[in-house]
Amino acid sequence: MKRIAIDMDEVVADFNLKHLHVFNRDYNDNVTLDDLMGCHLRDLRPHLIQEIRSYLDDPTFFRDLDVMKDSQEVIRALSEHYEIFITTAAMEVPASFTAKYEWLKEHFGFLDEMNFVFCGDKSIIQADYLIDDNARHFKRFSGQGILFTSPHNVNETGYVRVNSWLEVRDYFLR
Ligand SMILES: [Mg+2]
Repeated sequence: MKRIAIDMDEVVADFNLKHLHVFNRDYNDNVTLDDLMGCHLRDLRPHLIQEIRSYLDDPTFFRDLDVMKDSQEVIRALSEHYEIFITTAAMEVPASFTAKYEWLKEHFGFLDEMNFVFCGDKSIIQADYLIDDNARHFKRFSGQGILFTSPHNVNETGYVRVNSWLEVRDYFLR
């Protein structure tokens, strides 16, 4: 079986939705997903860069993120034809480990937990495909990178791009 490595945040877990919600609530702001096209929240509100980052130090932040639409059904279908690994650069947010693990067990419990990979530099990942919203992970990845559309990456070109999990399904199971 060929291997597909799949990122968590903004690919299977809806990071932006919660991050924007808590930020707008706490700072009485009204930033929308449309505002994030081609940038990050920290770029829009640079004077609050520490505050924006500090949400990720909350050990519970990642525990209740919404599941990205259709990701469970598509990954379940893909797992019959491919070896699936969830690969998250969790070292960037060490406080998140337990929440991310529990979240995966709750929403992707049909995968073997031995296929959950909490890493730093993803170039260590040996897989045929990597589905990720951060193109920087493709630079030293030996397989095929597949860019999952997220507001911040809409202007990235030069990569295979998928806009939804239904497009992922069509790419692999056509
Ligand atoms: Mg991501």
